[in-house]
Amino acid sequence: MERTFLAIKPDGVQRGLVAEIIRRYETKGFTLVGMKFMKVSRELAEQHYDVHKERPFFTSLVDFITSGPVVAMVWEGDGVVASARKIIGATNPLTAEPGTIRGDFGINIGRNLIHGSDALETAHREIALWFKEEELVSWQPHLTPWLQ
Ligand code: ADP
Ligand code: MG
Repeated sequence: MERTFLAIKPDGVQRGLVAEIIRRYETKGFTLVGMKFMKVSRELAEQHYDVHKERPFFTSLVDFITSGPVVAMVWEGDGVVASARKIIGATNPLTAEPGTIRGDFGINIGRNLIHGSDALETAHREIALWFKEEELVSWQPHLTPWLQ
């Protein structure tokens, strides 16, 4: 079953949007298989954003993601990688569509509330980086036929 990595960034936690953000994935019908509330080390942040290490915003991005606790999660379901990104919205909250998390709650590209893996391969890499195998729970929710 397809899985993706999502992390509510420090601004999402500070603004009390944790429940609101989780609600969107729960009610959509995806299955939570891992979650932890944690401070991110500089080392983990740098590895996570390794692809952006040459970008001018890299240091401020790492500063921000290590500035306070985050909620790291793994969600499972058919098409979850692409669908989770759609629910997040465009990178810049100012241009993200209303109805998306970034479109509804943000205005600043550096404070865009949530991270989501951008492809299946990235999801595999990020899940392995953030979670140990034993921290992930495989389970079958009792879904109504409407969500299967
Ligand atoms: P996304 O999070 O939508 O996948 P990227 O992978 O392109 O976006 O960038 C990673 C993160 O870096 C973004 O979520 C955003 O917080 C930050 N970022 C991206 N572009 C900029 C920019 N031009 N200025 C400042 N921060 C940026
Ligand atoms: Mg990205």
